[in-house]
Amino acid sequence: MTAPLQDPSAALQACASYNPAVHLINADLHCHSTRSDGTLAPQALASRAKAGGVDLWALTDHDELGGQAAAAQAARDLGLSWLSGVEISVTFAGETVHIVGLGFDIDDPALVEGLARTRAGRLQRARDMAEGLARVGITGAFDGAQRYVGNPGLVSRTHFARWLVETGVCSDTGAVFRRYLTPGKPGYVDHRWAGLGDAVRWITGAGGIAVIAHPGRYRFTPTEEYALFSEFKAHGGEGVEVMTGSHVLGDARKYADMATEFDLLASRGSDFHSPGESRTDLGALPGLPDALRPVWEALAHRVQHPAP
Ligand code: AMP
Ligand code: MN
Ligand code: MN
Ligand code: MN
Repeated sequence: MTAPLQDPSAALQACASYNPAVHLINADLHCHSTRSDGTLAPQALASRAKAGGVDLWALTDHDELGGQAAAAQAARDLGLSWLSGVEISVTFAGETVHIVGLGFDIDDPALVEGLARTRAGRLQRARDMAEGLARVGITGAFDGAQRYVGNPGLVSRTHFARWLVETGVCSDTGAVFRRYLTPGKPGYVDHRWAGLGDAVRWITGAGGIAVIAHPGRYRFTPTEEYALFSEFKAHGGEGVEVMTGSHVLGDARKYADMATEFDLLASRGSDFHSPGESRTDLGALPGLPDALRPVWEALAHRVQHPAP
């Protein structure tokens, strides 16, 4: 685990030139609240981040900024440094890719509008998913999933997964995804999310930095993956997650190399969703390799620091 610094604000402010101390900041820049598919409210997440030794925190709900003000306030109250965050659903080469945005203006009209459009199809998709499940004998899934939804505009596969565990169809959410909610399975519905260029421009247009989330999770061929990284850069994307709860050690090594090859900033985030479900807790990941430049160094001017 990364050793927390006594004074992360001072280290961030001092990092205009290369500063190894920036690597020792325990930054966790990816997690989810009840505003999307997490089970903790923003305040409870902030407390858990604090307890986990996090110095610099971002809440990155799927396609949604409704938790940002509460996250900023909780961070202030707890003495955490904070960056705004979001995780945007994108369709690229027929696959869903997630783009994390960090350090943007949460009131930017084009970003707010773009996210509203990205969320818009989720309700119909949920109805279609329930129909697919009904065809294999699982009835009532739409209403069942709704019981887990914390934000009516943001129903996700995760809410279906929790209900399917509750009803005993599967023993854990991972099994639900494997059997019912991934491509080719009865509850999976193809969906068209935002375009890669749109998502990157919404984030950069709002003053933030766009980051490719958990690249090790996508099932791309090497050619498709190269295209993702090249096009992401061409659109103005600047970062990639290297240390994430979704990567095994081999992924972290591979994407550390890709960060160097594509001259990208590196990010670190647990992707924490829920105490009972998430493998990696807030603040618990290893630090970034020294050779990479942390994304939070480039975002020092966007950090909300705790009161001294
Ligand atoms: P959605 O945006 O509705 O497609 O839901 C995507 C979310 O489902 C991700 O952010 C994860 O939280 C969750 N998810 C995706 N794949 C899996 C998996 N194999 N096991 C557990 N959760 C998953
Ligand atoms: Mn999720
Ligand atoms: Mn994701
Ligand atoms: Mn996530």
